[in-house]
Amino acid sequence: GELVVSFGEMLVDFVPTVAGVSLAEAPAFLKAPGGAPANVSIAVARLGGEAAFVGKLGDDEFGRMLAAILRDNGVDDGAVVFDAGARTALAFVTLRADGEREFMFYRNPSADMLLTADELNVDVIKRAAVFHYGSISLIAEPCRSAHLRAMEIAKEAGALLSYDPNPREALWSSREEARTKILSIWDQADIVKVSESEVEFLTGIDSVEDDVVMKLWRPTFKLLLVTLGGQGCKYYARDFRGVVPSYKIQQVDTTGAGDAFVGALLRKIVQDPSSLQNQEKLVEAIKFANACGAITTTKKGAIPSLPTEIEVLQLMESA
Ligand code: ATP
Repeated sequence: GELVVSFGEMLVDFVPTVAGVSLAEAPAFLKAPGGAPANVSIAVARLGGEAAFVGKLGDDEFGRMLAAILRDNGVDDGAVVFDAGARTALAFVTLRADGEREFMFYRNPSADMLLTADELNVDVIKRAAVFHYGSISLIAEPCRSAHLRAMEIAKEAGALLSYDPNPREALWSSREEARTKILSIWDQADIVKVSESEVEFLTGIDSVEDDVVMKLWRPTFKLLLVTLGGQGCKYYARDFRGVVPSYKIQQVDTTGAGDAFVGALLRKIVQDPSSLQNQEKLVEAIKFANACGAITTTKKGAIPSLPTEIEVLQLMESA
């Protein structure tokens, strides 16, 4: 099968209507659906792929709105459960003057943190060709145990495990706690994607030279990716490695670029898993993922700017 199952959080981001202001200065906020794993599932579906999302939402108006967004975008929401006693998570997101995003979360606790192992839709997880997750679902019980169990179920059923740690330091009690817990499931993954700044966060070394990145490599990995923003992406597979430059576009808002990149790459891998062993095919898949990430930066927001397959192919052909 070609099903990509994403596990984790979906939430409502509140984004200032004007750029470069603090939360206090922001005159108003727009609501923007987000949550990296949910973005990935929508990225896959937008490209014409089969996608499902596993997670918990509040049984409130925002939770139902988010489930409807999954469905309207062609993502199977049959494995989404609702918590009657907790709210859907919210995050206020500001873009600092240096272009980095800052997050203020409302999770006390939010519904996504309360998913239990018993609530997992085992049938959906067992159908996954790729099972994808981040690290926010590792922070607190009972979701942490549900996350670990879901990984086990997927792996036993033969899925490839895909991990984008996407650390949000504000959610952890300390940097060290974040690093330790994020690395605690490192060895189980088949595919890992990190960004340049995450290499520094995880290794303590501000460099993406091969010898630094290889500190994050494990012999059981099939693919390790380091995204480099406008520079594209470095890739490390068992028998080959390299760099694939991205495409030239007019960048407006990078939100969701990493998720679009991951969604596109996973879409290509489920269509042809031999891409993981064949350098030529892998480079083609990464070009496609770079183009998908690039297009996502040309418009505001994550989900509204995720491209269709035709749009990605058009950028690749025009370059
Ligand atoms: P996020 O900001 O969503 O967490 P990230 O830091 O994981 O994302 P980036 O490295 O910013 O990911 O972007 C992911 C991919 O998108 C890059 O590897 C690249 O292929 C593409 N991309 C991002 N920004 C640009 C850009 N300005 N020009 C061209 N391609 C881009």
